[in-house]
Amino acid sequence: MKLVNLVKVTKIYDRNSHKVVAIDDISFSIQAGDFISIVGPSGSGKTTLLSIIGCLLKPTTGTVEIDGQSVSKLSFTKLAEIRSNKVGFVFQGMQLISTLNAVENIILPGLLSKRSSRKPFKHLVSKAKALLDNFDLSHRANHLPFQLSIGECRRVAIARALINEPLLILADEPTAGLDSQRAAAIVGKLRELSRNSSRAVVMVTHNSWVANQADKQFVLIKGELSDELSNLSLSQA
Ligand code: ADP
Ligand code: MG
Repeated sequence: MKLVNLVKVTKIYDRNSHKVVAIDDISFSIQAGDFISIVGPSGSGKTTLLSIIGCLLKPTTGTVEIDGQSVSKLSFTKLAEIRSNKVGFVFQGMQLISTLNAVENIILPGLLSKRSSRKPFKHLVSKAKALLDNFDLSHRANHLPFQLSIGECRRVAIARALINEPLLILADEPTAGLDSQRAAAIVGKLRELSRNSSRAVVMVTHNSWVANQADKQFVLIKGELSDELSNLSLSQA
């Protein structure tokens, strides 16, 4: 089943009338069960593409469908609902709330989702604790982000992305700043998540080893997407 379908998508940023073509005519789809990597150098459009796939940004031209629904013309309120119920983001900077502990950070998107917030609060708490347990972080439940290592923060950020049981998990440079052992552990977790056949995981990275761990690999260079891995050497330049 197609979870995401992009047709002829472009994104042009207009910076003081200086135009930056961040995404250049991309057509691409994501199926349920996919574990996808998108590799490309810094500035190639990775975060922009992930933001468009996750309905955080509207494309300049082209159409985006999520779970069979065309989202290009939806209002910002409707887009927020789709993000909340269908998409789990793991942001490049993690964006954990510094005054909330690990459990509270994980619960937050649950409180903001109409669907999840219908359930009793204690249901969300036990779900967050189960997620922490699954990420070997039970002993860190009450720690604030500044008391956690980068690797632990990344795991909390992934757990938070899962609280609303999204169909689509989008991870922006999820291994940045980690040593190879910790990076491999994060990639292993993302792979595990993609084993659920109704779900897809997309990770963007500038690390070719990380990219190679995915089942389907794409390369993004100057806003153009290709499945030609021979282009990879360019991205490592
Ligand atoms: P990556 O994640 O691969 O580093 P980005 O998607 O962040 O790439 O950026 C792609 C290009 O778009 C870069 O040239 C960047 O400077 C530009 N860009 C990104 N966001 C904005 C913005 N909000 N306004 C103007 N230009 C932007
Ligand atoms: Mg980026």
